[in-house]
Amino acid sequence: MDNDIERILVAEEVIEKRLDVIAARITEDFRHEETLQVVAILKGALVFMADLLRRVPLKLEIECLNVASYHGGTESSGQVDFLDQKLPDVKGHTILLLDDILDTGRTLQAVSAKLMEMGAKEVKTAVLLSKDKVRAAEVEADYTAFEIADEFVVGYGLDYDGKYRNLPYVGVLDSKVIKS
Ligand code: 5GP
Ligand code: MG
Repeated sequence: MDNDIERILVAEEVIEKRLDVIAARITEDFRHEETLQVVAILKGALVFMADLLRRVPLKLEIECLNVASYHGGTESSGQVDFLDQKLPDVKGHTILLLDDILDTGRTLQAVSAKLMEMGAKEVKTAVLLSKDKVRAAEVEADYTAFEIADEFVVGYGLDYDGKYRNLPYVGVLDSKVIKS
């Protein structure tokens, strides 16, 4: 699997150190919430969520949302689909929304809007990665672990065609692996 990676962009130790910093900020900023409600976007945010939240010693609840925007390729389709039969109850809660990466911005914007429409009091957002680019949807995350260049990456939760999510680092896929 490592053979398919052309270059490591963010190494495991670097991710771990940075998560300590982001988690400390989140812990401080949400310390007055009775219960923090976290909503993670599946499946990309799974690894980030697990490693981040174990560093946040607050009383919190975890909900997951199944959303699709990529449909197997390396370009966002431009449409955000909510795949769950039942969405979490967020009424009156401050929400910390987690995603793996901020790219076009459509996902975070659509999901934040949906949570507000469902009655959330406030939605704050945290992402592992943010691509340095002009976004289709004007949105920035409240907490960003790493800014990266505008290229397709995998690992640490991020997939290509369902694979590579379990790599402990973020890397760039070798072009020979990408189906044309
Ligand atoms: P956006 O809606 O901001 O364009 O994209 C967000 C979603 O697209 C992310 O949750 C992620 O699933 C996917 N995505 C965006 N860029 C990348 C990338 O470089 N690699 C992978 N594997 N997924 C990406
Ligand atoms: Mg995703």
